[in-house]
Amino acid sequence: MFEAHVQDIAQEAFTGSLPGDARVDALVVAAHERYRDHADGAVADYIPILSEADPAWFGITLAGVDGTLHSVGDTAVSFSIQSISKAFIFALACDARGHEFVHDRIGVNNTGLAFNSVVAIELNDGSPMNPMVNAGAIATTALLPGDSSDALWESVRGGLSRFAGRELDIDAEVYGSEAETNHRNRAIATLLQSYGRLDRDPLAAVDVYTRQCAIAVSAADLAVMGATLADGGVNPVTGERVVSAEAARDTLAVLAGCGMYERSGEWLFEIGIPAKSGVSGGIVAISPGKGALGTFSPPLDSAGTSIRGQRACAYLSRALGLNLFASAPVHGRTGAASTPKGS
Ligand code: GLN
Repeated sequence: MFEAHVQDIAQEAFTGSLPGDARVDALVVAAHERYRDHADGAVADYIPILSEADPAWFGITLAGVDGTLHSVGDTAVSFSIQSISKAFIFALACDARGHEFVHDRIGVNNTGLAFNSVVAIELNDGSPMNPMVNAGAIATTALLPGDSSDALWESVRGGLSRFAGRELDIDAEVYGSEAETNHRNRAIATLLQSYGRLDRDPLAAVDVYTRQCAIAVSAADLAVMGATLADGGVNPVTGERVVSAEAARDTLAVLAGCGMYERSGEWLFEIGIPAKSGVSGGIVAISPGKGALGTFSPPLDSAGTSIRGQRACAYLSRALGLNLFASAPVHGRTGAASTPKGS
């Protein structure tokens, strides 16, 4: 079970704007101090090279939709983006193919099962169900433009780079380590093909997906990428429109329902904003119209989500009023009801 460790923090209502810069800076630093010494969780090792990460690494960046960054800790350390890429690739697919198409071809409902489940595909007549589990992510990557594998890879790398506002590239060591051991993802793609759910060669699609997961980012990059989705698809640092406002909205909706896999309900209950985690220890959490958090800390819980990262998101969601579901009475906190018109 996920323990947020924030019951002592006052819950601010969602107001539509962040507090001033000094307050945001102070709270980001406070979140880092509060969880820095938490040592729960284990660094992922099913992709062999990930086990070499330093379990003490911990960085938090908040990027506002005004393009301001607030960072503390290891926010420049580079790590592979892993599953967090799925969110941004889905946004690019929504932009290229449209709302109805991705709804029909991929799906938007939670599997209730782990991110790499094969059973989920079988239970759902070959549907990958949503773009955040591996099956749906491989199928979504295959929807991006590109006649060859090289052209598809450039759609992926170029698209993620526009979200980050800088040229991103692959961590070749991570790619090599995963490519040697990703038998399960190859099985998933081949199963999708057997159901007629993949338009490309399955092994070629998995290869581009594996490269996509090995793209190197920092916590600060994740925050800017997330803030682009929070800002109606426009990168708040570069000013470039990366995807349409509709594609950004659709992506956040799917993240809310599926971004934390089978724990998505619990995440919304505790933290209340769309988010995506990756097995190398990153999290992006997005507050529409306000900004996004990028966190990095390698030790994970049993569902594959960074423990310090989720606690920092829970803390900052409460303290900064990011939770989409938190409101306060419009007539103040005294409990006085308004007088109905005409009475
Ligand atoms: N590349 C990883 C995989 O396909 C991504 C998983 C994750 O970050 N949850 O297994």
